[in-house]
Parts: sequence; C-alpha cells; structure tokens
Amino acid sequence: MNPARRRFSRQGEPPAYDGSDDHPGVGWTRVAPQTGTAVRLDPGDRLTVLDPCGEQVSDLYLVAADDPAEVFSSGRTTDYGNSIYVSTGSLLYSNRSRVLAQVVEDTVGVHDLTLTPCSQDTFDILYPELRGAQHPSCFANLVAALGPHGVDPDRIGSTLNVFMDVWTDDRGELHIDAPPTRPGDRFSVEARVPVVAGVTACSAEKSNNGVCTPIDLRVDRVG
Ligand SMILES: [Zn+2]
Repeated sequence: MNPARRRFSRQGEPPAYDGSDDHPGVGWTRVAPQTGTAVRLDPGDRLTVLDPCGEQVSDLYLVAADDPAEVFSSGRTTDYGNSIYVSTGSLLYSNRSRVLAQVVEDTVGVHDLTLTPCSQDTFDILYPELRGAQHPSCFANLVAALGPHGVDPDRIGSTLNVFMDVWTDDRGELHIDAPPTRPGDRFSVEARVPVVAGVTACSAEKSNNGVCTPIDLRVDRVG
C-alpha cells in the first residue's frame, strides 16, 4: 500500500451523493466513461470532480484563459508544495509559476502528479495485447476538449491525475494501485485566475481496476 495514504486517513464514509451508476446527482454533469470535457472558470469559481461509482481516475488540466501557452505545471506544483501529492490547501502552479487554482476540498488525499495523461502511445507501449488498436485516451480527449479554447496539443503536459494512487518503493519502482475512491468521493479546486479546465474520465483500464466508469462534475460560480 502507498505509505503516503497513512498521512490522509479517511474520516468516515464519503459524503452523501444522490447520483448513481446510471445518472448524475441533481446539479451535476456526467462525463461519460472514456471521454472528456472543458469548463471555463473565473476567479473564485469552484470545480468539483466526483467519482460516482468508485475506483475511477479523472485527469485534470488547467490552462490560463487569457494565454493558452500558460499551463498547469506538475513540476512547479511539486517543487513549491514540497510534496508529490496535493490535497486541501495545495496551490496549483503554472509553467510561469503563477497560482492557477487552489485545492479546497479533498476526501481522498492521494492524487498523482507524476504521470502524463494516457495516450494512444501509452496503449501501444504498455498494453501490447491491444496490438496497436485504436483506444480512447485522456490525451486525445483533452486535445478535443481544449482545442476549441486555443490550446495546442503540444502544450498538454503532465496532468493532475485526480484519485490516481501512484507511489514508489524504496528502489524507486513505480506502483499504480486501484484508485482508493468510493462512490461520492470528491476533489474541488477554486480558480485564482481565469482558467479553462480540461477534465476526463480516464480511459486506461489498468489505472481504474479493470473497468472505466464515469466522472461527475459540478461548477459553483461566484458571479
Ligand atoms: Zn487516462
């Protein structure tokens, strides 16, 4: 087990949620399995990503709305936060060291900052049993969702992989465990500057305990 999970011992059950496997809760939007979307956030707006079925990763990527060359930086976020994990209170930095958003709610505590979004190349390299077959991916879904906002595919770097449990042992070997989420677990960020947020329901079976399920979203706006 990821030793860092001990730092974030769960406090009781996940929050109550009125959605189910079949439909999102009232006021929530469903991101279908193996798809993605993008939402614009103004300063103070909150985006909540919720796992309605359990054990599902959601890749989150932030881009400055006024200049899509300014993007989320997992490297600067880990550097300035002095942790390879983010949780409530963590600041999410851009490649220009500007705070794009802050984590304001987290019922899980482990979210990966080390891995890139799954892509066709990921499946070609890590899923040889697929023999190069076309496969949905977070990268392609982010390209499709963020493209209309002026984001070049080459600007889509390492994502904040919400609910993804990646850790290293004492030899530096990576372990990817099933997301430790149960239905209703959630992760919220509050924008500090105008941003466009790309969000996926991850397409990689091996990262989601074998089955890809949906992700639910809610945006709470200040304006
Ligand atoms: Zn993915």
